[in-house]
Amino acid sequence: MQLPPEVPLLAQLPPDWPAPEALGFGQYLGPYLVECQHRAEGGWGAPCLTPRAASPLPVASGATQYGLSVFEGLKAYRDASDGIHLFRAPEHAQRLQRSAERLHLPVPPQALILQLCRLAVQVHADYVPPHGRGSLYLRPTLFAEEECLGLRPAMRHRLSIVVTPCSDPLPKSVRLWAEPELIRAAPGGLGAAKTGANYAAGIGGLLRAKERGYDDVAWLDAATHTQLGEAGTMNLFVQIGDEVFTPPLDGTILAGITRDCVMTLLAERGIACHERVLTLAALTQAGTEGTLGSAFGTGTAARIARITAIGDGQREIHFRETGLIESLHAALKRAQETPGDGGRAWCDTVEPMGA
Ligand SMILES: *Cc1c(COP(=O)(O)O)cnc(C)c1O
Repeated sequence: MQLPPEVPLLAQLPPDWPAPEALGFGQYLGPYLVECQHRAEGGWGAPCLTPRAASPLPVASGATQYGLSVFEGLKAYRDASDGIHLFRAPEHAQRLQRSAERLHLPVPPQALILQLCRLAVQVHADYVPPHGRGSLYLRPTLFAEEECLGLRPAMRHRLSIVVTPCSDPLPKSVRLWAEPELIRAAPGGLGAAKTGANYAAGIGGLLRAKERGYDDVAWLDAATHTQLGEAGTMNLFVQIGDEVFTPPLDGTILAGITRDCVMTLLAERGIACHERVLTLAALTQAGTEGTLGSAFGTGTAARIARITAIGDGQREIHFRETGLIESLHAALKRAQETPGDGGRAWCDTVEPMGA
C-alpha cells in the first residue's frame, strides 16, 4: 500500500472519543480513506491511504454532475476473543460490481474490493467497538472523478472506502408512510443498484413521511401505487398466519444482504418465507381476518426494525407483536458477531496490521 510519509499505519483514536453506545450511526468518520484509482488506460492502480479531509472531488466530476457513483455498506465486528471479521463481505463486493455494471462504471475485481475493505479495517482497528457493543461500518464508494461536462462514461474513477464506527443498533420501532404520489424506482430504472440517485429520488418522500408523523417511507410500485416495494434503506417483511412474505426482487428494489440473512434464519427455524407481491389491500384484509402478524424492515445499518404501522392517508394498517422480531434480531446479532455461528460461513477474519 502506498503511504504518504506523515500517515501512521494505525489510526489513533482522539482522546475524547465517545463510548460505543454514544456513537450512533454515521456521525463519527474514520480519519483515512483507503482507495484505488482507475484510469481508462492502465486500469486499477495500487491501494493508497489518504487523509479523509484531503480528498478532493471536483465540482465538474461525473459523480457530482450526473450521479455516476455507486456504494456499499458492510460491517466489521469484534468477536469474543477480540479478533475482527467482516460480515458477508464477498456478497457486498458482488453487489458493488452489479451496481457498477448498471451505471457503466469500471467493475472492480472482487479481490480488490475485499483487499481495500481489509486494509480499511486494519488501519482503523482501534475504531472497531468492543465485542457486542457496535461495529465499524464500511462505505466502499466508486465514483467518476474526471472533470467533464459532457455526458459519457468517465475516463478516471476512484474506489474509496470511508469508515464510521457505530453503536449496536437496538431493536427500534418505526411507522411507515406508504407514499401515494412520489416514486423511488420504476421497472428498467436504477432500483436494484445501490446508488445515490435512488436516494435523491427518495428524499422528498422521506420528508413527506416525517411531516405526517411517520418515520420512513414504504415505497409503492410506480404503475399502480398498490404494491409494497421497500422502505428508504430497508427491505420489508410481513408475517401473515404462520408464514412470512417479502416483495420479490423485480429490479425496482435492492437485493438486501440482511434480507438474505433473514430468509436463511427463517428457513433454519422451519418458517416458510415467500417472495411475493404484497398489496396494501391484502394486508388490510389480513388485518380484518385476524391473520396479520408482525412486520419488519431489514438493513445493515438498522439490522431489524419493527414496523408498527403502515399508513397512506386513507387507512392505517397495524401490525402485532408475535415474538418473531425479537427472535430474529437476537439470532442475527449472534450471527454477525460470532464467526462460524450456526455453521454458516458469513464471517471473514481480518488479520491485524502487519500479521
Ligand atoms: C442498502 C440498502 C438496503 C439494505 O441492504 P443490506 O444489504 O441489507 O444492507 C435496502 N434498501 C436500500 C435502498 C438500500 O440502499
